Amino acid sequence: DSVLEAVGVDKSFAGVHALRGVDFALRPGEVHALIGENGAGKSTLIKVVTGVYRPDAGRVRLAGADREFRNPLEAQAAGISTIYQEVNLVPLMSVARNLYLGREPRRLGLVDVGRMNRQAAQELRRFGVDTDVTRPLRTLGLGAQQMVALARAVQVDARVVIMDEPTSSLEPREVDTLFEVIRGLKAQGIAVVYVSHRLDELYAVCDRVTVMRDGAVVHTGEIAGLERLRLISLMLGREMSAVRE
Ligand code: ADP
Ligand code: MG
Ligand code: MG
Repeated sequence: DSVLEAVGVDKSFAGVHALRGVDFALRPGEVHALIGENGAGKSTLIKVVTGVYRPDAGRVRLAGADREFRNPLEAQAAGISTIYQEVNLVPLMSVARNLYLGREPRRLGLVDVGRMNRQAAQELRRFGVDTDVTRPLRTLGLGAQQMVALARAVQVDARVVIMDEPTSSLEPREVDTLFEVIRGLKAQGIAVVYVSHRLDELYAVCDRVTVMRDGAVVHTGEIAGLERLRLISLMLGREMSAVRE
């Protein structure tokens, strides 16, 4: 009983075998870390699961049924909301419009803009973003832009939220807000995939971890009792006798 699964997924780009028979299973309501060195295949796996890429082999299952999403909006409509590593918002559009991007776009065109803006301002304050929401998104700092992406992702009616290296442009205060948001999602029974290579973060918020190396999954298990040194060894593919941090 997994909410989301990748089964035997293979994906190659010209000259790069990015995913090699990857199995990944997300349980309902868990926060599942996906870690691995740069280039291990984490983002590619997420992009296959959410319909950015088609797998060469293997399949994606949502709540026990095979699914083929043709694009991320289809995945979102099915309940998988994703924050990609590259912020995929529209820099020239207002903060408020970005918040509602991809959510009932036709109806949004009909709503009262003043009301939309007031609602956006209120929703964003929960994420520590207190700003004039009519400004173009690009006038915000990178961390605040990422928080808008996060607010957008979690306010969609999702059963799975995927975050690809969400803290890379966040300040410590914003990271704390993110962790609160993740705990809130978990309390609502929403499962989270948390892609990171910052081990302190995964010990802070995650229940289980999947480790990828060179396009393959090399470990999946509980985080409790799993030593940091062991995780690093798994990521690097060699025994570590000392940690340098
Ligand atoms: P990670 O997110 O773990 O850092 P990626 O999934 O981004 O790893 O990349 C895995 C491998 O696939 C890398 O060798 C990367 O260069 C390659 N890759 C990813 N996306 C593409 C693409 N669109 N075209 C060609 N190669 C790609
Ligand atoms: Mg990378
Ligand atoms: Mg990546």
